[in-house]
Amino acid sequence: MVQEKLLQIYQLMFEHFGDRHWWPAQTKEEVVIGAILVQNVSWSNTEKAIEKLRQQDLLSFAALHRAPLDEIEPCVVSTRFYKTKAKKLKAFSDFLDANYKGDLEAFLRQPVPQLREQLLNIYGIGPETADDIVLYAGGQLSFVIDAYTQRILARLGITQEQAGYEELRTWFMENLPADVALFNQYHALLDAVGHHYCSPKNPSCTPCPLAPLCQYAQQNHSFTQS
Ligand code: SF4
Repeated sequence: MVQEKLLQIYQLMFEHFGDRHWWPAQTKEEVVIGAILVQNVSWSNTEKAIEKLRQQDLLSFAALHRAPLDEIEPCVVSTRFYKTKAKKLKAFSDFLDANYKGDLEAFLRQPVPQLREQLLNIYGIGPETADDIVLYAGGQLSFVIDAYTQRILARLGITQEQAGYEELRTWFMENLPADVALFNQYHALLDAVGHHYCSPKNPSCTPCPLAPLCQYAQQNHSFTQS
């Protein structure tokens, strides 16, 4: 029943937005670097930082490990709290060098529980970033939760507004088929709904593909819930 509803939501979003081609990156290292830089900042500002790192030959963990912080910082100024972001990149590169001789593939190959636990112990990696890395860089099963997901699911009337990160992640993983491609696309589609329509105040329900299923839209507009 819950799975059927979740797949119906997915179908509506997919028909509306199509394939989101997420995560936009040329390498796994770029995915991880992007996942760290995008914390609390827009993707367009993250892209500017990635481009600068690329221009300076710093878009790899080997290069970041060798570079002093004051070489990394100017490249990432477009991301908020750029000094902290530079430290986070450095911390990840130092971890990889010390524990995996810089081999990102070897690190990502571990079973998800171990990988996630190690990620969460690295400075600057919280649950959302860890799950971005597991799913989009590691290609392994982990559902990514963000503020958009929490808001959309609550407005749909499916989960509680105050549902926490781990609770929602577990709920998705228990109710969706275990399919990496589905998890990948599902998170990207929810982000598209959040970005384009489901803003914190005055969401744009009329063009939103989820309006026919949405409790909030039904209560605040004249939609009929299906
Ligand atoms: S219909 Fe409105 S409230 Fe519901 S998910 Fe879409 S934008 Fe958000």
